[in-house]
Amino acid sequence: MLVGSHAHGAEGQGKKADLKSTKEHIDSHESRGHKTRYNHRFDAFACLTCDEWLESKCHDPFCNYCSKRPKKPSSEVDGENGEWELC
Ligand SMILES: [Zn+2]
Ligand SMILES: [Zn+2]
Repeated sequence: MLVGSHAHGAEGQGKKADLKSTKEHIDSHESRGHKTRYNHRFDAFACLTCDEWLESKCHDPFCNYCSKRPKKPSSEVDGENGEWELC
């Protein structure tokens, strides 16, 4: 149960919509041949080809993951190695 382990605000079922749009983002990038990956350190999906995150941050200003997330996936993470995992 690693993926989505930091699902904040489990209030209501609104989370499902978020999850779906993230998946759609991933699919649309994948379908164009882009490299999408999951990053453990920030608990978020990103497209390495576009160099952008595919998930919006959560609303917790003190979140251990989102508050430390760099603007661009490449700016703090070493390419495809280490923390990146295939979706
Ligand atoms: Zn992309
Ligand atoms: Zn967060």
